[in-house]
Amino acid sequence: MKAGAVFPRERRVGMVELEEPQISFPTQVKLRMLEVGVCGTDREICHFRHGVPPENHEFLVLGHESLAEVVETGPAVHRFRPGDLAVPTVRQACTHPECVACRGGRPDFCYTGDFRERGIKQLHGFMTDYVVEDEEYLNPVPRELRDVAVLVEPLTIAQKALAQITAIQRRLPWGSSGGRAVVLGAGPVGLLGAMALVNAGFQTSIYSREGPRDRRAGLAAAIGAGYVSSQRQSVLEFAGSVGNVDVIYEAIGASQTAFELLEVLGADGIFCFTGVPRHGEPVSVNAARLLHNLVLKNQVILGTVNAGRESFEAAIRDLGVFHERWPDAVSSLITRRYPIEEFREPILEPSGIKNVIAMDGMR
Ligand SMILES: [Zn+2]
Ligand SMILES: [Zn+2]
Repeated sequence: MKAGAVFPRERRVGMVELEEPQISFPTQVKLRMLEVGVCGTDREICHFRHGVPPENHEFLVLGHESLAEVVETGPAVHRFRPGDLAVPTVRQACTHPECVACRGGRPDFCYTGDFRERGIKQLHGFMTDYVVEDEEYLNPVPRELRDVAVLVEPLTIAQKALAQITAIQRRLPWGSSGGRAVVLGAGPVGLLGAMALVNAGFQTSIYSREGPRDRRAGLAAAIGAGYVSSQRQSVLEFAGSVGNVDVIYEAIGASQTAFELLEVLGADGIFCFTGVPRHGEPVSVNAARLLHNLVLKNQVILGTVNAGRESFEAAIRDLGVFHERWPDAVSSLITRRYPIEEFREPILEPSGIKNVIAMDGMR
């Protein structure tokens, strides 16, 4: 069977032939991969800045955002049957007995850094025809979500962030949650984050670089969020127009703009970073003003990396809600589907919002 892979030592990105995997353990499930989404993480891996092949392998099979159909189950599998849809988790626990996060089923909070990740770190990814995975790492998906469930993994980022924000807002003596939210960036993580925030009752605005006529602005309007283009308003003008900002959800890869927005975070506000800076781009920070605001405005700055099973379950549930509430907006997040033979194009020359490799051919 074929797979899309990266060969870091040879600095090459290409197809590889693999033997079809077979179930070898009673709790394993054999999956036929249907769709694999690509994102900036894949791009970083294909530029050899990130990504580690499994031990004794020269290559890493790509793909961490996926949707699969169960084709076979081991005798001890209880939650799945052939024909069921599933989205696999990406990160898998480290083996250290003292890591309370991994031992508690939350490798997304791993203390040791020795976790492994499908398609990213020491485990092959999903950009291939068949994968065998333990039932423990699979999340069932309803059939109605067949055409959009490849968005579950990027949505887990927003779900985990939202769970953390809700927990932090509980510190307020009146126990209030919600308020005004700003999403920085209108890529898939930003737009899915905006949907999650709107759905959770936040009055939400997206601030992004695309112009006001871009389809992303239309998408924001369709879900009831505001859209402000950074071509039209500076961060300060934008902040002046929204009032006290309770939550900022950063989804562009931490940049200068993120730190400018941090300066306009409101009283009791939470700034949540989901992106990491691209290589070689220094950012400058007014540390004195930052500390001044942090203390005098009771602010919290938080980073979050996805995602545990809880976030996957929440993402599957909420994607169903979004799909019912805003069917066209959710579907139009997926800009284009590519056959596996062309997997390099959407990774290395990305355009549109979310691009997907259709493993079962171009439906
Ligand atoms: Zn991704
Ligand atoms: Zn761990």
